Amino acid sequence: SLKTFPQINPQTSETFKVYEEMTGAEVQQILASATTAQQAWRRRPASERVAAFAPLGEALRSRAEEVADLVCQEMGKPVAQGKAEVLKCAYLATWQVVDHVDWYVENGAKFLEDTEYPALPGFKKSFVTYQPLGTVLSVMPWNFPIWQVIRMGIPTLMAGNAVLLKHAPNCFGSGLVCEELLAKLDIPDGLFRSLLIDVPQVSTVLEHPSVQGVALTGSEGAGRAVAAKAGGLLKKAVIELGGSDAYAVLADADLDLAAEAVVNARVANSGQTCIAPKRAIVDKRVKAAFEQKVLEKVALKKYGVDFGPLVHPKGRDDVAAQVAETQAQGARLLCGGASEPPSGDCKSFYPPTVLTDVKPGMTAFETEIFGPVIAIIEAPAEDEEDVLRLSNQTSYGLAGAVCSV
Ligand code: NDP
Repeated sequence: SLKTFPQINPQTSETFKVYEEMTGAEVQQILASATTAQQAWRRRPASERVAAFAPLGEALRSRAEEVADLVCQEMGKPVAQGKAEVLKCAYLATWQVVDHVDWYVENGAKFLEDTEYPALPGFKKSFVTYQPLGTVLSVMPWNFPIWQVIRMGIPTLMAGNAVLLKHAPNCFGSGLVCEELLAKLDIPDGLFRSLLIDVPQVSTVLEHPSVQGVALTGSEGAGRAVAAKAGGLLKKAVIELGGSDAYAVLADADLDLAAEAVVNARVANSGQTCIAPKRAIVDKRVKAAFEQKVLEKVALKKYGVDFGPLVHPKGRDDVAAQVAETQAQGARLLCGGASEPPSGDCKSFYPPTVLTDVKPGMTAFETEIFGPVIAIIEAPAEDEEDVLRLSNQTSYGLAGAVCSV
C-alpha cells in the first residue's frame, strides 16, 4: 500500500493536508517525460534557455505572501521570515541588491559560454565547454522550503538539464508551488517535476539511466547514503551538509554589535540554519560582558515574530537532549532550555537558549545543534591564536566569522 504524508502545522499540531505517495509507475512516467523534455531543452541555445527564466522573479514576488503562509504552516517559521525567504529567491545574491533568479538570467549565458585556451601542441583548438548532464535529482530539506529548491534548480535547469525534486515530506506543498511556477515558463513540459516519494524510491530514481547526478542538502546521514549510492552507480553527487560555524569574538570587538548579530542569526528560522554561527568563541577578557549583552538581546525576541517552533517534536527532542547533555557535561545554562510552549497545542516549542562554559568534548562543541542555541566557549588564553585554534577544532565545514575592529 502507498505511504501517506500528513502535513502537520508545528504551531498547532493540526494536520492540514495529506499527500499520497506516487506509485512506481507514476515515477517512471515522470522520469520518461523528463528525459524527453531534457533532450529538446539541451538543443536550445544556452542564451535562450537562460532567458526563459526572466518572468520567474516577478512571479515569485507576486505570490510571496501566499507562499509565506504555506511555508509557515509546513515548518513553523514566522510569516515575515517566510516572505523574506520567497523574496530572497527573487532577489538575493548580495542581499536585496541583486535578484537571485534575475542574476542568473543576467549572467547565466556568460557562465555557459565556451572558454578558449591557446591550442595544445598538435591540436587546432583547445577550449572548455559546459555540456548538460541529463536529468539531475534534487533532494532538499525543509528549513528553507522554497529557497533550497530555487537555489539548486534554476542554474541546473539553465545549464540544460532536467530536474526532479524529492523534497522533505513535510514540504511537498512548497515543492508543488515551485513546479507550478516553473510550468508557466517557456520550458518543455516535465522538465521540472516534484516527486512525492519516500526515501527508498530515491535509489530507484538514481538508478534510471537518464539521471546523471544528484544534489542533496541535508544531514550527514542522508548525504552519506545518497553519495554512496551515486558513487556505486558512478554518477555525480553534490552534497551540502550540516555545520557548526565558529563565531570568534576578539577582545577589541564591538560587543553590542557582536551580540546582536549572533542572536539574530541564531534565532532566525529558530536556529534551523546550516550556515548560522553556532559556537561563539570569546576572548576571556570580554566573555562576561558579551554574555550579558547576549542575554539582553535574547530577552527581546518574541515567539511568533522573531522565532517559531522547531519543525517537529523530534527536532525539539533532539535539541533538548543535546542541551541537557552539554549541561550534564559541565556547561552552564544562562537562559532558555526545555520550556512549556506558549500554546498547549504546540509540541515542538524550544526557546532561544544560551549555554556558557562550553568546552571541547562537550556535545554543543562537537555536534551541530539544529535549534536556537548559542554555545559560548571561553578562549582560555588571552591570545588570538587560541581563538583560531578552537574555531578550527571541528570536523564541519561551511562558514565562520570574526568580530574585531
Ligand atoms: P535530512 O538529511 O533527514 O533530510 C534532507 C532530505 O534528505 C530530505 O528530503 C530527506 O527526506 C532526505 N533523505 C534523508 N535520508 C535519506 C536517504 N537515506 N536517502 C535519500 N534521501 C534521504 O535532514 P534533516 O531533516 O535532519 O535536516 C537538517 C539537517 O540538514 C541538518 O544537519 C542541517 O545542517 C542540514 N542542512 C544543511 C544545509 C546546507 O546547505 N548545508 C541546509 C539545510 C539543512 P526524508 O525527510 O523523507 O527522510
